[in-house]
Amino acid sequence: MAKPKDLMKEITALSKRRGFIFQSSEIYGGVASTYDYGPLGIELKRNVKELWWREMVQLRPDIEGIDSAIIMHPHVWVASGHVDEFVDPLIECKQCHHRFKADELENLEQCPDCGTKESFTEPRLFHLMFQTFMGPIQSEDNIAYLRPETAQGIYVNFENVRTPARQKVPFGIAQIGKAFRNEITPGNFTFRTREFEQMEMQFFVHPDEAQKWFEHWKDQRRAWYMALGFKMENLHFHDHDKLAHYAQAAVDIEYDFPFGRSELEGIHNRGDFDLSRHQEHSGKSMEYFDPATEERYIPYIIETSGGVDRCILALLIDAYEEEPEGDDPNKTRTVLKFHPKIAPVKVGIFPLVKRDGMPEIAREIEAELRKHFMVFYDDGGSIGRRYRRQDEAGTPFCVTVDGQTTEDRTVTIRERDTMVQVRVNIDDIPKMVREYTENWERNKGL
Ligand code: ATP
Repeated sequence: MAKPKDLMKEITALSKRRGFIFQSSEIYGGVASTYDYGPLGIELKRNVKELWWREMVQLRPDIEGIDSAIIMHPHVWVASGHVDEFVDPLIECKQCHHRFKADELENLEQCPDCGTKESFTEPRLFHLMFQTFMGPIQSEDNIAYLRPETAQGIYVNFENVRTPARQKVPFGIAQIGKAFRNEITPGNFTFRTREFEQMEMQFFVHPDEAQKWFEHWKDQRRAWYMALGFKMENLHFHDHDKLAHYAQAAVDIEYDFPFGRSELEGIHNRGDFDLSRHQEHSGKSMEYFDPATEERYIPYIIETSGGVDRCILALLIDAYEEEPEGDDPNKTRTVLKFHPKIAPVKVGIFPLVKRDGMPEIAREIEAELRKHFMVFYDDGGSIGRRYRRQDEAGTPFCVTVDGQTTEDRTVTIRERDTMVQVRVNIDDIPKMVREYTENWERNKGL
C-alpha cells in the first residue's frame, strides 16, 4: 500500500488515461488551469454532490435548497465587499515577468523564480472577479460579474426562501453551483482553478446561539468527510487566529495534499455582517421577527463552504494506491480504493471469452444491473487487463461470466481491494453490492 513519489503527476496521468479529468480545449493547446470532467469524473462528482445534497438538504427538516443565478445584480458585489476588497496586490519581476501575490512572498528582495535581486515592480491591485457586460453596450453602467461564491445568492434570498418554506430561525439554505475567480496563482491540477464548483450552506441563527451552531456544524462536516471514506489521519481542523473582518470565528478543514496541507472547506461564524450589508445597500429589511419571543433581530450566519473540485481531487489522492501484484516484485497494480458509494462505476461485467453464449449472458446481466447501478461492459483483452482497468477506475466489483454460468447461472464476483473472488448466483448480485456498500470499511473486503 504505497503512494508513488510524484503522486500529483500520477494522479493527473491516471485522470486523463481513465477519463476522470483532463485539460479543457486540449486540441487547441488547452486553457491554463481549466479542466473538463470525463465519463468517470462526472459520475464521481455527481455522487459526491448527491451525497452532500442528501445530507445537507433532504435529510434535514431545517435546511432548504436553492439554485440562484450566476450573474447577480452588480450592487450585490458592492454590498458583499467584493468590488472593493476582493483584490490581491500583485508584484511582477521585471526580469522574468512572473507575478506573485505580494503578501505571499517572504523575501521581497529577490525573485524566487529567476533569482534576480531588486527586480520587483510596485504592487498593483488585481481584481479577482470576472467582469462582463449585460446587454449589447459595453459601458461602465452595464458591468456585471460572474459570482465568485454561491453564498450571496443565498443571503439575498433569505426571505424568499424562508417565507414559502415556512422556516423559522434557526434554519439554513444550501446551494451547489459554479463560482469564478480570476486567480493569480492557479495550479496544482484542479486544486485552484478559475472556474470551480462550491457546495455552500448558510445557517441563520439567533446571535446568542451562534457559537453552539458553529460547533454543531464542525461536527457535522467532520462526520460527512468521514462518511465519504477519507482516511481521517489526512484531514485536519485548523482554527484561524487571524479572522476576516466580518468573521467571529473560523475553522478550515484541511487535507494533506502532496503539495502541502491545504483547505478543503471553511466553516465560519460570519456574524450579522452579510444580512446587515444587504439591508444597508438594498434598503430592504433583513430582520427576522421571532413570534415566540417577539424579538426582532438580524440573524447571525454560520457558513459551511466547500469546494466540489477540491473534494474530488482529495478523494482521488486519498484513494490512490500502488500495490505489488502477485509474487513478481516488478509488477504493481494501481487501484483507486474509493468508498463504493462514490465509485463512478459499481460493477464491471466481463464475458470470459467472446463465444459459447457468454457475451449474451453478460449483456443480459449488464441490462439488468443497469437498472440499479452504473456498470461497465468490457470484453477487450485478457481478464487480468480488464481487472486492472477497473481497479484504476475504482470499480468495487467485477463480474465474470464463464462456461459454468451457461450451465448454472452463477458468476465469479471479484472485490477490488482484497481481489477475493466468490461464486454467486446472478440474481443475488444487486443485493450483494448493496449490502457490501452499506457495510464498507476501508480494507475489509468481501
Ligand atoms: P483559498 O484560500 O484556497 O483561495 P478561500 O479561503 O479563498 O480558498 P473560500 O472563499 O472560503 O476559499 O471558498 C470556499 C471553498 O471553495 C474553498 O474551501 C475551496 O474548497 C473552494 N475554492 C475556493 N477557491 C477555489 C478555486 N480557485 N479553485 C477551486 N476551489 C476553490
